[in-house]
Amino acid sequence: MTEKRDYYEILGVTRDADKVTLKKAYRKLAIKFHPDKNPNNREAEDKFKEASEAYEVLSNENKRHIYDQFGHQGLEGAGHSGPGGFEDIFSSFGDIFEDFFGFGGGRGGRSNRVQRGSDLRYNMTIDFMEAAFGTEKTVSIPKLTQCDECDGTGSRPGTDVETCAHCHGTGQFIQSQGFFKVKTTCPYCKGRGSIISDPCPKCVGAGRVETVRKVQVKIPAGVDVGSKLRLTGEGEASPSPGGPSGDLYVVINVKPHKFFQRDGNDIVCAIDISFAQAALGADITVPTLVGEETLTIPKGTQFGDSFRLSGQGIASLRTGRRGDQIVKVLIKTPTKLTAKQKELLKQFDKLDGNKISNKLKNLFKNL
Ligand SMILES: [Zn+2]
Ligand SMILES: [Zn+2]
Repeated sequence: MTEKRDYYEILGVTRDADKVTLKKAYRKLAIKFHPDKNPNNREAEDKFKEASEAYEVLSNENKRHIYDQFGHQGLEGAGHSGPGGFEDIFSSFGDIFEDFFGFGGGRGGRSNRVQRGSDLRYNMTIDFMEAAFGTEKTVSIPKLTQCDECDGTGSRPGTDVETCAHCHGTGQFIQSQGFFKVKTTCPYCKGRGSIISDPCPKCVGAGRVETVRKVQVKIPAGVDVGSKLRLTGEGEASPSPGGPSGDLYVVINVKPHKFFQRDGNDIVCAIDISFAQAALGADITVPTLVGEETLTIPKGTQFGDSFRLSGQGIASLRTGRRGDQIVKVLIKTPTKLTAKQKELLKQFDKLDGNKISNKLKNLFKNL
């Protein structure tokens, strides 16, 4: 860091600013430059740290007094953490502990000083064809959204929001347990970062209200049972005003189809053919996902043989390439034969050297 800026200048307040003014100024900056609202923005992160440091000093009477008399240098020997203090400790250890203890919703290990809203799960059942080709659905999701009366602050509009002095408005606490530093929700403000003296009449101080929101869900072609779609920011509002909302997870269930079954991106179906078609070979018409195709069955086809219609399956979610349709052939044995058909089949068997009856005889011999 280059030349340190003046703490009053950072917060944009005069040197005689009172505590309330300081808090207001800090809150404004903290919300504006919060890392969660400015992902991957180094400048905003630095501004956030700078403001937090300035507020940490100026909100403490003793430290402010030293700073007023001796400037930045005065604080270095006075137990003030200075650069490499509170915020830096947080940055260097925060990510590690988040991964370790599962803090902050596991979003890329970023240290979440403002609590995220809860994630929501919605189970959606769609038709087989909708899963194969994709669709769009509108769903009604009951969820907690930010109160528009108070903009999520929980305080009656026009009244002062007091920044929680215990957590400096961050809503979280870092507690040392030996070597480890553990992040917990601030017990004084319950993670909100502010103290409410005159609650908002609409949300009764909660900052959030229960509403039913209509959400448009775009379902891509190729989803299957258990597919999870994430709608970023469509979960519940953050308990901290201006904080990031949670995500909405739509979990897909697919109704079975009466003709097609799914095997990954391939679809499988079974087709009945006659004994004569199997023996002599035939061109048969097979229903596909989009219409029908002609499939050539070679002569001598056996019961259960499978044939592949290339590219007639379901589009892969990742590559978009379509799988195949696998046609399993079942040979239907005729049950109602006319006298003539019976006669012809008997003749056939005789010409075949009575194979069917001989096979059976051999089978019993070997038992
Ligand atoms: Zn607090
Ligand atoms: Zn409200």
